[in-house]
Amino acid sequence: MAPIVRKKILVKGVVQGVGFRPHVYKLAAEYALGGWVRNDASGVTIEAEGPGPDVEAFIRDLDGRRPAAARVDSVVSRAVAPVGGKTFAITKSGGKAPAAAIIPADLALCSDCRRELLDPADRRYLYPFTNCTNCGPRFTIVKSVPYDRPATTMAAFKMCPDCLREYGDPLDRRFHAQPNACPVCGPSVTLDLGGKTIKGPAALERTAALLAAGRIGALQSLGGFHLACRADSPAALKKLRSAKSRPHKPFAVMVPSLAAARKLCRISAAEAAALTSTEAPVVMLRRRGGEFSEPAPGLSRLGVMLPYTPLHAALFALLDRNGFAGPLVMTSGNFRDEPICKDKPEVAARLRGVASFTLYHDRPIHNRADDSVAFEAAGEIRLARRARGYVPAAVKLAAAGPSVAACGADLKNTFCLTRGSEAFLSQHIGDLAEPQNQAFFGETLANMRRLLKVSPALVAHDLHPDYASSALARALPGRKVAVQHHAAHALSVAAEHGLREPFIALVWDGTGYGTDGKIWGSELLIVDRKTWSRAGHLKYFRLPGGDAGALKAWRPALALFKDAYGAGWKKSTGRLFAGLPAAELRTVDRMTDAGVNSPLTSSMGRLFDAFGFIAGVRAEATYEAQGPMELESLLPARAAGAYKFELRREAGLLELDPAPAIRAAVGDRLAGRPPALISARLHSGLALAAAGSVEAAARARGLKTVCLSGGVFQNRALLEGVTAALRKKGFTVYSNRRVPANDGGIALGQAWYALRGYS
Ligand code: ZN
Ligand code: ZN
Ligand code: FE
Repeated sequence: MAPIVRKKILVKGVVQGVGFRPHVYKLAAEYALGGWVRNDASGVTIEAEGPGPDVEAFIRDLDGRRPAAARVDSVVSRAVAPVGGKTFAITKSGGKAPAAAIIPADLALCSDCRRELLDPADRRYLYPFTNCTNCGPRFTIVKSVPYDRPATTMAAFKMCPDCLREYGDPLDRRFHAQPNACPVCGPSVTLDLGGKTIKGPAALERTAALLAAGRIGALQSLGGFHLACRADSPAALKKLRSAKSRPHKPFAVMVPSLAAARKLCRISAAEAAALTSTEAPVVMLRRRGGEFSEPAPGLSRLGVMLPYTPLHAALFALLDRNGFAGPLVMTSGNFRDEPICKDKPEVAARLRGVASFTLYHDRPIHNRADDSVAFEAAGEIRLARRARGYVPAAVKLAAAGPSVAACGADLKNTFCLTRGSEAFLSQHIGDLAEPQNQAFFGETLANMRRLLKVSPALVAHDLHPDYASSALARALPGRKVAVQHHAAHALSVAAEHGLREPFIALVWDGTGYGTDGKIWGSELLIVDRKTWSRAGHLKYFRLPGGDAGALKAWRPALALFKDAYGAGWKKSTGRLFAGLPAAELRTVDRMTDAGVNSPLTSSMGRLFDAFGFIAGVRAEATYEAQGPMELESLLPARAAGAYKFELRREAGLLELDPAPAIRAAVGDRLAGRPPALISARLHSGLALAAAGSVEAAARARGLKTVCLSGGVFQNRALLEGVTAALRKKGFTVYSNRRVPANDGGIALGQAWYALRGYS
């Protein structure tokens, strides 16, 4: 027999609240080892004793066979003196209140719980609140730390003897599963149907029947309410669109399974993995053929998610009995950009006109969290909206520093708190112009500060003096650090990739306040270890009407035509304006000439809007980036040439002039060439222009690393084209993955800027 050894093992990563100790316990039983396991401040500590080869196999399996929701960052072991004994125990958590361990993010329904849920013989058959250590609510039900049942919104429910037995059995999947519940002792659903209420299983059955019949309902989910209806019902969608004032903006759908998703969309391996992950985001997938365009009109992609709570899975099982197996539209239960509704009174007050019934329950939502949105580009899954399933997981920084509260920007707001070398981004909060979102910001910041136990010494905010986020920052204690919008975008990439070397950043964006008071949006930056500077930008053009005209793509187009054609612009492009209101055209024309209410901008977003107008795709949008998204959707598989952007040096800065590209695109349109061709030439032209500009800025400085960020890089084709063109020139290219490239990721860059002492 091999000699007996004893090892002390420290496992770090996401190993608490995810069933890791039972996993260790079971492995120890399998190899008949003695010893113990416990949670402590930095992870999980184990002592294991037995024959050498068995202990080694045990250590390999700690990560090799880890529970689905766990993530192992490191396993470090050292020999200690054997003490004898064959029993293995789960012992009390060690040390003081764990500083490094934090609340796990919400976890999608696991396969074991799903099997039980759909098994008529199981005691939790169709029970919408089943969960275990591998799945269930976490962040959305937590009120304080340490993460134990009394600190959650499950505190009011007392476990029945069966649940208690599971909770106390180290070999059970529900060992120490804080939200553990069953039909006897746990939460239950209620259906409110115009004042009449139905409770329990009958409520769920009736809900399925109502949805199958084409009704719109409000459904309480994990981080808020959804508005749900059949995705194949034009009448229901029409009603939903008019109630939400969203004539075209895409809605996400939920389908019962991955197989069902494949019937609608083409799905890569990475996309399938994202759909079925414990985070379970909405994934933007390529729709098959031309059918089923209603939820996302004009777009080639459809946002799809799988049932991530037992309530969703039970509902789809019941829908199937009603003869409906198809997708449900599942859109956030809110209007415009208000916070997602989290309880019955909010639904009653805000969604009354649209939802004809409400399915709610008595496990309160403490922290609101919208669905997260992901997409694949350049071989990686990236987040466009980071909320449920990801928050409050930390982004590990390359260095520690003082605690920072970074307040983000005004659109797609998130904030970021740092503790040591960890950055915690809030869930998506939304547009801060909406007063309810400012309250949501305050409520969430207070919650997160309490959970993390930090008092930030530094408060970072956008340079824009009039941003609501800047005003919120000024009201917080701590030294204020103003961060230019695009420098923050650039540093968000550096922060998430742990970059320490100087780099070039290409930030293509909607708008952000520049250091010269102009509206920046297409910036070439040099980012050093402590400083940054501007090396180039898109040639300024006028934005008649400013933000008020942001949805009117023809306005920046008109200004760009004046620059590209001079006095003859009307003769050359007048035909494109046919059908637009003549009086408004005249006003905008005069405003542009006089420079009245027509700020100068280098916005790539507005340039894209203008090309959407030139291509004949869209003169006026009903939601942000509609024209550019439609242009991208039209892209043909094959290349078709490239429009030329002229790069020149102006007052020490590189300036990219779109005039030749504008003239060529107008020529194509007037010659009757299809919008798909114009789109292809624009995308190829921009990729070449990007690579050319970066090369020109890098040459003198000997830089080889490039970071890409800004909302425009959510355009998958553009990100892939620019990345490929830069790699071809020998650059190493980084872009956002774990935080959005849009303003939802900006708080991370602000935090890194303040923490590192940039100026
Ligand atoms: Zn489970
Ligand atoms: Zn129970
Ligand atoms: Fe931005």
